[in-house]
Amino acid sequence: MLANYHTHTFRCQHAGGEDREYVECAIKHGMKVLGMSDHCPWVYGDGYVSGIRMTPDQVDDYFYSFERLRREYADDITIYIGFEAEYVPELMEEQNKLLADYPVDYMILGQHFIGKESDGVYTGASDSSEERLRRYVDLIIAGVEEKGYSYVAHPDLINFSGAEEIYKVHMGRLCLFLKERGIPVEINMLGLIDGRNYPSERFLRIAGDIGNTAIIGCDAHSPESLIDTMHMDMCREYAKRCGLELVDYLPGLGVK
Ligand SMILES: [Zn+2]
Ligand SMILES: [Zn+2]
Repeated sequence: MLANYHTHTFRCQHAGGEDREYVECAIKHGMKVLGMSDHCPWVYGDGYVSGIRMTPDQVDDYFYSFERLRREYADDITIYIGFEAEYVPELMEEQNKLLADYPVDYMILGQHFIGKESDGVYTGASDSSEERLRRYVDLIIAGVEEKGYSYVAHPDLINFSGAEEIYKVHMGRLCLFLKERGIPVEINMLGLIDGRNYPSERFLRIAGDIGNTAIIGCDAHSPESLIDTMHMDMCREYAKRCGLELVDYLPGLGVK
């Protein structure tokens, strides 16, 4: 892989390794671009504390650390600093305020929850509700329109167990939207390694039929994930099987 835009750090409380190790592994693999996209903090305002993302007061250190590494390794790799976040309309204003003072290079949209995390409905839980599926797709479309996320992490996270035709209608709608925007669908390597419900062949085939492009996202929660060529190759095979053309770089986030 020449670029990976889906990379976490220890700050999210469920990833390991040092910041420097992520950069060094990416260089070792031969990547030209490393995009940092750790789980973005929310300002909840109700005292809720998330166990799966950095806290608002860790944002300083996140930027400080990767800006330093960016300078140090400038001859070897281009580093972008961003976040992976859900789109939660009622919390956006506070999050925008929190990030306003930081030079955020890009954001990726990972809709892990349909509403707020504290409401506790994980998107990957199996469910046959069309209403939930519709809401998921509507949220992603609204989020990309409002905030301009660079791509959607594991777009096939939603674990719909209802009728195939209904799945096709809504996920087809999502694929068409992404295609019109020139946004590739992610083939999520972590999901593949862990045997999760994504990457989903039924989703990627819909995307292949519609003519979407795809990008491999390591979703690295450990530095070694960035040198895991075996699973990268398996993602490549996935794309081929589903008729998806892979892109290496995201628009505007190439080698500097
Ligand atoms: Zn994570
Ligand atoms: Zn992720």
